[in-house]
Amino acid sequence: MHISATPDANEPIISPCRAHREEGKDYALVFGTAHKVISLDQTVGAAALMAEFNGLDKYPHIQEKLAWLAMHCQINDTMARAACEHPDMYEDIGLAAPNLMYTNIAKFMFANGQHEASKLLADITGGVTTTVFGYKDWMNLEERPFNNKYLAGKGGIPTEHRLRAIRLVKDLIGDSHDATIIHAEGSLGAKDGSLRFC
Ligand SMILES: Cc1cc2nc3c(=O)[nH]c(=O)nc-3n(C[C@H](O)[C@H](O)[C@H](O)COP(=O)(O)OP(=O)(O)OC[C@H]3O[C@@H](n4cnc5c(N)ncnc54)[C@H](O)[C@@H]3O)c2cc1C
Repeated sequence: MHISATPDANEPIISPCRAHREEGKDYALVFGTAHKVISLDQTVGAAALMAEFNGLDKYPHIQEKLAWLAMHCQINDTMARAACEHPDMYEDIGLAAPNLMYTNIAKFMFANGQHEASKLLADITGGVTTTVFGYKDWMNLEERPFNNKYLAGKGGIPTEHRLRAIRLVKDLIGDSHDATIIHAEGSLGAKDGSLRFC
């Protein structure tokens, strides 16, 4: 069995395999939409984890954000499954390829929603997404008690776990730029709240 490479978009993965037209070979096509299911799962999971670690999970505005992220993730998962369950058939070369329309709808939806997903994840995590340090600083035992104390989240959650989750968020949102824009000088919620007093 031949397994294709996994470039980001859908069509470039399918086209080279069609072009090969190698008789007698089975093709398993891995398409971009499928691996986005995983990265979106990570995004929703990280957002839910940060909401919990920050002690925010009961607030309605956080629950609304988590609900949007879950919908955004699930629509991609559903379209990816539908693409496999309703494949395009190329009888002449014995090929069943992921449904082109479904994969492209999924690709459009996750690409179009990426900035919103990144925004919500940064918003829930907080400004520390920007300034969080790395492993080497954590291993500085002299500073460890201060880091443990001042970077703690909800009671009962080890600070180290919170920091690991924040580092994951930083990767998922493409480093620190978005979080800086959103949080420096106050979170979106803080702006919204203070406008009510203007
Ligand atoms: C690059 C950078 C520069 C900065 N420079 C400065 C500076 O010069 N001076 C300064 O004072 N600060 C500065 N900050 C800090 C900045 O003001 C805070 O990051 C910002 O106020 C957000 O606070 P937070 O990071 O604790 O996130 P949080 O306030 O914890 O926000 C995380 C989430 O929690 C929610 N949340 C928070 N509190 C509540 C609540 N009570 N009820 C419901 N939901 C809540 C928020 O809406 C958000 O969704 C800077 C931050 C960055 C990233």
